[in-house]
Amino acid sequence: MSGFFSQKYKELVPYVPGEQPQGRSYIKLNTNESPFPPSPRAVAAAAEAAKKLQLYSDPEMRLLKKKLSEVYGVPENAIFVCNGSDEVLNFAFMAFCDQGAVFPDVTYGFYEVFAQLNGVKYRKIPLKSDFTVDPADYTGTNETAFLANPNAPTGVFLPVKEIEKILSSNERRLVVVDEAYIDFGGESCLPLIKKYCNLLVTRTFSKSRSMAGARLGYAFASPALIADLETVKYSTNPYNVNAMTAAAGIGALEDGDYTEKNCLTIASNRAFAAEELEKLSFTVLPSRANFLFARHATVGGEELYLRLKEKGILVRHFGAERIKDFLRITVGSKEEMRALTEALKEILK
Ligand SMILES: *Cc1c(COP(=O)(O)O)cnc(C)c1O
Repeated sequence: MSGFFSQKYKELVPYVPGEQPQGRSYIKLNTNESPFPPSPRAVAAAAEAAKKLQLYSDPEMRLLKKKLSEVYGVPENAIFVCNGSDEVLNFAFMAFCDQGAVFPDVTYGFYEVFAQLNGVKYRKIPLKSDFTVDPADYTGTNETAFLANPNAPTGVFLPVKEIEKILSSNERRLVVVDEAYIDFGGESCLPLIKKYCNLLVTRTFSKSRSMAGARLGYAFASPALIADLETVKYSTNPYNVNAMTAAAGIGALEDGDYTEKNCLTIASNRAFAAEELEKLSFTVLPSRANFLFARHATVGGEELYLRLKEKGILVRHFGAERIKDFLRITVGSKEEMRALTEALKEILK
C-alpha cells in the first residue's frame, strides 16, 4: 500500500476472480463462462460498430434499450444498461443502502466487497442447512436485501412466490434480485417490477449469451429507481458501455433462438454431469444455473481442486469454512463434462 491510499480503503479486501490462465491450456470450468462462442450476429454487429470508434458511444443506449424493451416487454424507462452487472450491483450499494445491506452467508462474494468499498454496514444471514433461503429471515429486516437467484455458488433457486413474501413484507425496503443465471432454468421476478416499486432485477450477457468478455449488464425496475441509477451513472461514467459491446448486445438479442438452444444444451449437460458425479459419491445441490456445487463423501474440496488442476481441469474452490468441502464446477460442453468425470474417476480410484 502506498502512503497515498485513502484511509477509508485500508481494510478493503478486493474480490478474487477465478483464474484466467495464459500459459497451459486448461479445460476451464471455474468462472461460469459459456463453452459456446457468442452469436455470429453479435460478433458481426461489434465489428461493424468498430468502424465508428472515433465517436463516443450513445450515453442513453437508446438502440439497446429499445431492443431489450421489445424482447422483455418492459418500457424503456424501466431499463438500465451497464458495464457488466457487477457495475449495477456496485451502483445499488452506492445508491440504495442508507439502511445497510443484508445477504446470505453463502452467496456472490462481490456483495461483501461492494459493501466494504462503499462503507455500507452489512449483515450476512446464514442459509438453512440445505443451502436454501428462509424468506422469514428477511421479512423482518429494513436493510437492502441482495439475493442472487439462482444463488451463486450453490445454484439453488428460490421460488418467485418466496421472494414476493420478502418484497411485500416491507415495501419501504429495497430488494435486489441478481438474476445472472436466470436463463438456465429459473423463473424470473421480472413481472413483479410492475407491482413492487422496491424491486431491482439485475441481469447479464456474460453467461447465457456467451459475452463475458464484452462486459454488458442490464437491470429492470420502476422508472424512479432507474432514474436514480442513471444519476449515479452520469456522475461516474456516462459512457460506461462501449459502442462495440452495445452493438453486440443488440445482435445477441436478435438471435434469441441461439441463446435458447445453448441454454437447453447446458441444462442437459448439467443433468448428465450431476448424475455422473452422484455415481462417484458426490452430493450435488439441485442447480438451476450453469454450474454445479458438489461435495465428495470423503475427499476434501481443496484436494480435488488441486488434483484436477494437475490434470488440466480448472474448477473453483472457496476456502470459507461452510463450503470448503465443495467444488463449484461450470457446466461446459458434453466433452468437457466427460473429461471431468473421467479425471475424477482416476483421482478417486
Ligand atoms: C457472473 C455474476 C455476476 C456478474 O457478471 P458480469 O459479468 O459483471 O455481468 C453477477 N452476479 C453473479 C451472482 C454472478 O455470478
